[in-house]
Amino acid sequence: MIIAITGTNAAGKDTAAEYLAGKGFAHYSLSDELREIAKERGLEPSRENLIALGNELRRLHGTSFLTKRILERAEGILHIVLSSIRNPGELEPVKGTDGFRLIAIDAPSEIRYQRAKARGRIGEGITLAEFIRMDAEEMHGGNTEQNLAQLIDLADFKIVNDAGFEELHKKLDDAVGPLTKPKRASWDEYFMNIAKQVATRSTCDRKHCGAVIVRDRVILSTGYNGSIIGLPHCDDVGHMIENGHCVRTVHAEMNAVAQAAKNGVNINGSTIYITASPCWICFKLLVNAGIKKICFGEFYRDERIFEAARQAGVELVDLSYAIEG
Ligand SMILES: [Zn+2]
Ligand SMILES: [Zn+2]
Repeated sequence: MIIAITGTNAAGKDTAAEYLAGKGFAHYSLSDELREIAKERGLEPSRENLIALGNELRRLHGTSFLTKRILERAEGILHIVLSSIRNPGELEPVKGTDGFRLIAIDAPSEIRYQRAKARGRIGEGITLAEFIRMDAEEMHGGNTEQNLAQLIDLADFKIVNDAGFEELHKKLDDAVGPLTKPKRASWDEYFMNIAKQVATRSTCDRKHCGAVIVRDRVILSTGYNGSIIGLPHCDDVGHMIENGHCVRTVHAEMNAVAQAAKNGVNINGSTIYITASPCWICFKLLVNAGIKKICFGEFYRDERIFEAARQAGVELVDLSYAIEG
């Protein structure tokens, strides 16, 4: 399934694309592709150079050149999200594909202005009125230039992103629907299902969790939530409840890190698959242990991990779709 994302400035297009990337879509951005071509040609990726290069490519090879180039690279990939779509012509190669949908993201000007300012995307002195005027210019360009208004009109789904991440995620889920799975298990499904199997060894029935640490498709370490080695299990002596949580066990992901430490296995730069998203303490440990990607099977408790992961440059991936039963 190919999803294309368009929308107004600072409306949350990248956030939306990243969210879908976490849902199993491979993310390709048309502006990244243009930057890549600039690099291949030894051009400075300045705004002027990129605009000129974009115009030249469209003139010589047609409006859909960047999209076609991406599709060639993405051959064999089942689910794709395309971002930075700015012209209806860029959709030509994908609009007839099975399940295709164009999603437009928008938000009230005032909100977008504040976001753009917070991200340093607009100059200090730019007022709201100037921001709105710049916006209007971008909305109605010529044929080969940016023509956002026309694109937004064409969208199959229009999402107003004015109420935070959770609301945006919900609207995207509705627009995209459930993903169909390929017959052969993907690597993500494979490791996530192993994590599920590991969880069956858990000794605290309040929650069975399993974790698998992987690098280059090789398992480095595993862990499930269980008691301190040599001490009794919850299943035998009951839970040790503190503030509504059982604290008798060492969490699955902590045990996976501990097992690696015990055996002298380097987990720097690795990926962890966990049946449930890490609690705050585990999250901190994983990041500082050098884990670069955290895939979880269900969301558990702590919303702080999303923002912290973004800041720490750690990829946080919701693989709930990959878990069976
Ligand atoms: Zn317990
Ligand atoms: Zn934990």
